[in-house]
Amino acid sequence: MSTKLGFAPLPTMTADEALSEAHRCLMCWDAPCTRACPTSIDVPGFIKRIAHDDLVGSARTILDANILGASCARVCPTEVLCAGACVLNELHERPIDIGRLQAFATDDVVFGDLGLFRSVESTGRSVGIVGAGPAGLACGAELARMGHDVVMYDANEKPGGLNTYGVANYKMDQQTAIREVSFVESLGVEIRSGTAVGADVSLDDLFKNHDAVFLGVGLGAVPALGLDGEDLNGVEDALEFIAALRSASVDLTGQHVAVIGGGNTAIDSVTQAALLGADRVYLVYRRGRDEMKAYPHDIERALTNGVDFIHWSAPKRIEGDGSVSALVCDRTEYGSDGKLQTTEGSEYAIPVSMVLRATGQEKRRSFLEQIDGVAVDASGRVTVDDQFRTGNDRIWAGGDCVNGGKEVVNAVAHGKAAAIDIDRVLQSSPRGK
Ligand code: SF4
Repeated sequence: MSTKLGFAPLPTMTADEALSEAHRCLMCWDAPCTRACPTSIDVPGFIKRIAHDDLVGSARTILDANILGASCARVCPTEVLCAGACVLNELHERPIDIGRLQAFATDDVVFGDLGLFRSVESTGRSVGIVGAGPAGLACGAELARMGHDVVMYDANEKPGGLNTYGVANYKMDQQTAIREVSFVESLGVEIRSGTAVGADVSLDDLFKNHDAVFLGVGLGAVPALGLDGEDLNGVEDALEFIAALRSASVDLTGQHVAVIGGGNTAIDSVTQAALLGADRVYLVYRRGRDEMKAYPHDIERALTNGVDFIHWSAPKRIEGDGSVSALVCDRTEYGSDGKLQTTEGSEYAIPVSMVLRATGQEKRRSFLEQIDGVAVDASGRVTVDDQFRTGNDRIWAGGDCVNGGKEVVNAVAHGKAAAIDIDRVLQSSPRGK
């Protein structure tokens, strides 16, 4: 059987392309692109340095604001953030390709070990970080640059969280994510992978060994839908499907795949399945297109790749004999009370060989509720204040476990803001706490 690893992300720009794109930028004062960035990267500042052939200065401008600038350049929805805010849109011109310029500026520094940031004298204070995903990496990198000892604990075999396991290959490959983690380690952060807090390291030891703790634990698996037939071969969590593709070759030629959901994971899964050669790919969503959480540009990309969108349909059961053969749905509609309901007698079957659940991840409520002073709201999100402090004065939290699941760049912004506050508290508190 032939195999495919998915499709490579867009190639980075050549120097000539970057220079030409940089010269298109109007270097706006009060740049809307910077205001649209959750990490406030000085976009005209870094582009100006590219135009002046100062790539290291450009990288420094980006990485000072966002230490994961290399991965954010690839996975950010720039169409709705920086590039979406570019003034050239209003002039009916193509917006600046900020993502690819950012990748061009940062790649040599992040992946080339140029030693951009010097180590500083140790403060002797230690911070434990639970979860080596984007929020934890950003928090740890900032704290290490401030001179604190940082140890990150991650239950997975490889660090990087969603960047390593949850990004579709056509946006960023796993190797790029891992190399960026190595860059963070080069700043002085120690990462203990395959080490689950609560199992391999006790919570008591975590608090005994560190002056402060940051929780960047992200979210859990996609829960089962409770449908008959969900245990058949070929039914999977969409995130596990994406994670498996990060390190294994897969060929979906001949497969008919249905993905249930309307968010970013669903759209990544259908596009990935189509790019891997599936004969038919369906996105099954219980509401209309306008109510999908996925970004319009990602929806367009899925449509371009031949994905069939089936709206107003609620999965009812999965049929098959050992392996999946059909996803059975009811049609849906809004009732007179404004609530979504299934339409009586509307049952129909979609012949498929794979069903992927992309209906939202579980919160890590049971783990979080074990920690003194950490409150979890009704939807399972950790409650924090403006400085990302929890109710425990030694614990901060950020990223998906706080916002319920947003972009990598939002997690980076949380991690960085928490690091600044942790540093402030550690610098002003006596040792030995
Ligand atoms: Fe350049 Fe567009 Fe930002 Fe203006 S808004 S500084 S043109 S990228």
